[in-house]
Amino acid sequence: MTTALITHPACLGHDAGGWHPECPDRLRVVLRALEAETFAPLLREAAPLATHEQLSRVHPVSYVDAILAIRPAADELVQIDGDTALSEGTPAAILHAAGGAVLAVDAVLDGWARTAFAAIRPPGHHAEPDRAMGFCFFNNAAVAAVHAQVRWGLDRVAVLDFDVHHGNGTQAAFAPHPSLFYGSTHQHPCYPGTGSVRDRGVAGNIVNAPLAPGSGSASFRAAWAERILPPLRAFDPELIIISAGFDAHKADPLAELLLETEDFAWITREILELADAACRGRVVSVLEGGYDLTALAASAAVHVRELMRL
Ligand SMILES: [Zn+2]
Repeated sequence: MTTALITHPACLGHDAGGWHPECPDRLRVVLRALEAETFAPLLREAAPLATHEQLSRVHPVSYVDAILAIRPAADELVQIDGDTALSEGTPAAILHAAGGAVLAVDAVLDGWARTAFAAIRPPGHHAEPDRAMGFCFFNNAAVAAVHAQVRWGLDRVAVLDFDVHHGNGTQAAFAPHPSLFYGSTHQHPCYPGTGSVRDRGVAGNIVNAPLAPGSGSASFRAAWAERILPPLRAFDPELIIISAGFDAHKADPLAELLLETEDFAWITREILELADAACRGRVVSVLEGGYDLTALAASAAVHVRELMRL
């Protein structure tokens, strides 16, 4: 069995403005890196559109309708907040992004791939059930997790988030549901300011490990090994979804967590090892942040190499 790579050209069509760090080139450099010979065995599939039903399992129908009703004209930007805006191509991008995360789950649970990487944008982990923010509109990882429960009948699904920012949206969606686990390392203080260790969810199903600016590799690895993976093991997930943001890299302009490229290989191996024991290696990864184009491409490449078990 192999690894699926799921993407869609429509994800390049979301453009929040020429200055914006969450730019189409992010996805272009990731896909270019995955064109190397090493990645020839990837099963390449086009991300479908997410359905209204899939989105409304996480987001209220009124919110889904309100977001999808925004139809910017060519060269128009509709601002949601200071750094979250829709362009003409955004409606298609956000539907294919969430649909890509859903297809990644289907690939792994249907068994035609052992692992899957959804190379999609815009990211999703800041999108709360009823609020777009932080470059995010629909919560791709959360929609995928609940899809795994509803479509495939799984009881326990985990989202693990190593993006440098806290996934406030995923936490908000998961906190009331003991069948959904959310574990995150993130820089604190940093945007969006959430992610306290005191947030535990209804059943200890939220595990936050905030890290101070400048923490570096050793602190990152210790946080996962000692604080997040043990309760995840106890949760006994049937599927793990990674919110794979690469903006904790030392070259990233948006934060100062100072990770090396190799740290993303390490955490991927750790997650796969736990998944081998808990859930037959079933791991889905969904692209979140990462804003230094060179570091993003290199980090995503080592992450996918590990997903392929090369
Ligand atoms: Zn981020």
